[in-house]
Amino acid sequence: MHYQSEFASTATGARVRFGGNARDVVAEELERLGARRALFLSTPGQVDRCQDFSNACGPFSAGVYAEARMHTPVDVTERALDYALKVKADCLVAIGGGSTTGLSKAIAYRTDLPQLVVPTTYSGSECTPILGQTEHGKKVTLKDPKVLPEVIVYDPELIASLPVPMTVTSALNAMAHAVEALYAQDRNPVSTMLAIEGLTTFVDALPAVISSPHDLDARGRTLYGAWLCGTVLGQVGMALHHKLCHTLGGTFDLPHAETHAIVLAHATSYNERAVPQLLAPVRTLFDSQSAAAGLYQFARQVGAPQALRDIGLDENALDQAAKLATQNTYWNPQPIAQAEIRRLLQSAWEGKPPGGY
Ligand code: NAD
Repeated sequence: MHYQSEFASTATGARVRFGGNARDVVAEELERLGARRALFLSTPGQVDRCQDFSNACGPFSAGVYAEARMHTPVDVTERALDYALKVKADCLVAIGGGSTTGLSKAIAYRTDLPQLVVPTTYSGSECTPILGQTEHGKKVTLKDPKVLPEVIVYDPELIASLPVPMTVTSALNAMAHAVEALYAQDRNPVSTMLAIEGLTTFVDALPAVISSPHDLDARGRTLYGAWLCGTVLGQVGMALHHKLCHTLGGTFDLPHAETHAIVLAHATSYNERAVPQLLAPVRTLFDSQSAAAGLYQFARQVGAPQALRDIGLDENALDQAAKLATQNTYWNPQPIAQAEIRRLLQSAWEGKPPGGY
């Protein structure tokens, strides 16, 4: 497989800069956008990095707001919006994972400010016009072109600081977009090609990143995989797997990437009965009997968490989770049956191998 380590590209309407020197590239891109007062966003954990970018962009920076939180709580957005208006921001720069990108999108949704995203995880949110917001214990997802970032700056060096456990779960989060894209109702040959290439890239490069987290070539390949997987997430609709993860994350406040890492093999098993031929590329990739078994084995091999009970879900929540995840109808290749979903969640909670729902 040919790996190009530096390029500029335009995909899903966003301008993509891939390569090194993200601080300089961000300054260049702000100038290109005509921004004069960019507001730099991050989570509290990445405030130093965010400040560093803000300093590097000197005259273009209107300041730093480092209060992004997972699952985009609306109260956080409202405070950030007040701050953006106070400093007269004319552009948003998100330095971080899906949580920071989520805050940027939530502000853009309310203001239509242009966004420049510098991803530091593999979540892929930067490639989508999708925004999930949480209010009163419920995560509600919307799709709006205003939410799609204008510019994405990928730099392998920024992802090298992602701790290995988060690297693993974030990679599986990205791979989940590609697995569901393979059977998406609105898939096309190009989205399928991107999904297969994205999965192959992660399976190839993730073990190298785990054994050498600061190997920038391996990190770059995984970041390329994240772009591909994020691109398919922005192009085609998702199904059961994403619905389950959104329910578990939004209602029970489970960590996003870890939840994806655990649920993926189970949701794949649920759907593989209906679409074995569409999941054949995953079987081939892992040389396994089923796509679900291959994903389960791979997740074990890279050291991902295996059980929902290990990431803070109470067993008593499973009935409510099954109910919430099945109450609104949505397209899925296999019909959604609440009793089967309840059994799937029990298996995922216990960390059993997928199947037999
Ligand atoms: P995150 O952004 O919440 O980051 C997790 C933690 O890791 C944070 O504490 C952060 O500060 C830290 N971190 C991030 N990158 C780091 C790095 N390189 N080095 C050190 N620490 C780092 O995690 P996430 O999984 O990327 O994002 C999850 C959120 O993104 C969820 O709310 C999810 O719903 C959303 N999401 C949205 C979409 C979409 O298309 N709308 C897609 C994927 C995820």
